[in-house]
Amino acid sequence: MSSLGSFNSFVRDLPQQDNRMPVLFVGHGSPMNGIEDNEFSRRWAELGREIPQPRAVLCISAHWLTRGTHVTAMPHPRTIHDFGGFPSELYDVQYEAPGDPQLAQETADLIRETQVGLDHDWGLDHGCWSVVRRMYPEARIPVLQLSIDYHKPASYHYALAKELAGLRKKGVLIMGSGNMVHNLRMIAWDRMEEPGYGYDWAHEIGETFKRLIASKEHTALLDYRRLGASAQLAIPTPDHYFPLIYTLGLQEDSDEVSFFNDRFVGGSLTMTSVKISRD
Ligand code: ZN
Repeated sequence: MSSLGSFNSFVRDLPQQDNRMPVLFVGHGSPMNGIEDNEFSRRWAELGREIPQPRAVLCISAHWLTRGTHVTAMPHPRTIHDFGGFPSELYDVQYEAPGDPQLAQETADLIRETQVGLDHDWGLDHGCWSVVRRMYPEARIPVLQLSIDYHKPASYHYALAKELAGLRKKGVLIMGSGNMVHNLRMIAWDRMEEPGYGYDWAHEIGETFKRLIASKEHTALLDYRRLGASAQLAIPTPDHYFPLIYTLGLQEDSDEVSFFNDRFVGGSLTMTSVKISRD
């Protein structure tokens, strides 16, 4: 073999350079976390500094539920104040990150599971901006959202997420934003200020979720309805759970899992968040 030939085979046998971005599931909790300086928002700000600077952020938010799947494709997404009864300071927030119409088209083209619509009406809802504005306060990094087809089961979202894997290698930070345990009807409003207060059932299912995520038992997490009564209390409707499924769908075998903001709020809500990354 010529020396060039042996060099070429040497290069070919090197591990493929893999700079894939982490994937996040972020428990967003109250919209007030978007303006309050607290342990959750401080951790979001730290994450923005820790993670390699992304080319763009793609959010899958619990607050954009649609028929069919859509991706925001406008050059300047608006800040949506999709909540009621909060202080005016929260309604004054404008997070003016640009969009990225070309990346929206690329994202739509990647997905074979369904025909993805290019959206020009939505923007950034609070599930997305309340977190991303703390991570990237300068608002220079483009931010897109992918909607959740609310007529489809968890397995569908898991398969769809897998088709987005290529974006991680193109510098896109994909972030599911919801809450693993999210039962607003059962919130103990009188104990909101009590740090880390969680009902027994919430502790039980919260631990189960973490164990299944850490051991990559995704099938059990997709079949969440079979996880018993505590899971039904944690997920009365799956809007805040499905973003987690997108995050898990993007996990590769060599990825590590870590948790952050692993706290209860008001008994029936967890802020528990997941970072999936190469190390
Ligand atoms: Zn929410």
